[in-house]
Amino acid sequence: MDATKHNEPPLQAGQPGNGTGHIRVADGAGIAEAVEVLCGGGLVAVPTETVYGLAARADSDDAVAGIYRAKGRPDFNPLIVHVPDLAGAERYAHFDERARLLAAHFWPGPLTMVLPRRVDAELASAVSAGLPTVALRCPDHPVMQALLVASGLPLAAPSANRSGGVSPTSAAHVAASLGDRVRLVLDGGKTHRGIESTIVAIREGGGWALLRPGPIEEASISGIIGLRDGVTTLVIEAPGQLASHYAPGKPVRLDASEPGHDEFMIGFGKVEGNVSLSETGDLAEAAARLYACLHLAAASQHPRIAVAPIPHSGIGAAINDRMARAAA
Ligand code: AMP
Ligand code: MG
Repeated sequence: MDATKHNEPPLQAGQPGNGTGHIRVADGAGIAEAVEVLCGGGLVAVPTETVYGLAARADSDDAVAGIYRAKGRPDFNPLIVHVPDLAGAERYAHFDERARLLAAHFWPGPLTMVLPRRVDAELASAVSAGLPTVALRCPDHPVMQALLVASGLPLAAPSANRSGGVSPTSAAHVAASLGDRVRLVLDGGKTHRGIESTIVAIREGGGWALLRPGPIEEASISGIIGLRDGVTTLVIEAPGQLASHYAPGKPVRLDASEPGHDEFMIGFGKVEGNVSLSETGDLAEAAARLYACLHLAAASQHPRIAVAPIPHSGIGAAINDRMARAAA
């Protein structure tokens, strides 16, 4: 990581962009500058409760195209649109009884719903990659909420990393991955949940699918709207569903009880390592530290990575999902 990035003088708002990203504390002035950049169609990396997002106004084709370019993301991969509340969300998608129930239970929070897109939705078509559906989330983070409210804009915001890489849970991770591809990085400290939102597709006329496991557990959702049906019939595969994603750039061996001589060990519970996801075996802590540990492993001298076994219960399902894709 380039430590000098942190000391760069801030780009003046309105100054012709020199393309150099810079990190700013997410205080009132930082948020005001971010709103200006966003309104002008630029990109800002912002903290959310899950991971750092690369935000742009979702109602502009050009702004949304900027996200795909900066991430190197394939354009068939749709983005999540962030809104301040349920009323904001209903401007873009049709909510049935089940979707409203889920919103009432889990918003603001780390749940994304894929819903039928309204024909009159004022959103760039690229944001949902031309699909008749749109993914919506109402985030529970004061900085992201402040941006949504102050800008009055829907914000598309995938994770703020190059496509396929390890997701960022700190401003430094963002700067290391995107560098000058992002104009401004708002630093709100480490993200609290550490793992991307749970994504569910609510099908018109009944049924639902889990597109990506995450901090909201499947059982909590089925407790409210009933069991999901088996297979998803969605045209698009979420990148979170691609076999290889979250890749640290070296081989990863899972369920290891001890490291080989050339392996950087990521421990959990009683299994010690060069770093530990959670020495006490706490799964929420492990989720929050997951990507930071993968970043450390990627930056280490060791050519390989070994990961201790992690229980599959609760948010362990989402952790194991991400680890499996990091290893693929
Ligand atoms: P990211 O923004 O990188 O966390 O990823 C957003 C996820 O939402 C991706 O896995 C997308 O494929 C998925 N997604 C967004 N919109 C849709 C949609 N309309 N249908 C299915 N999946 C979607
Ligand atoms: Mg991502």
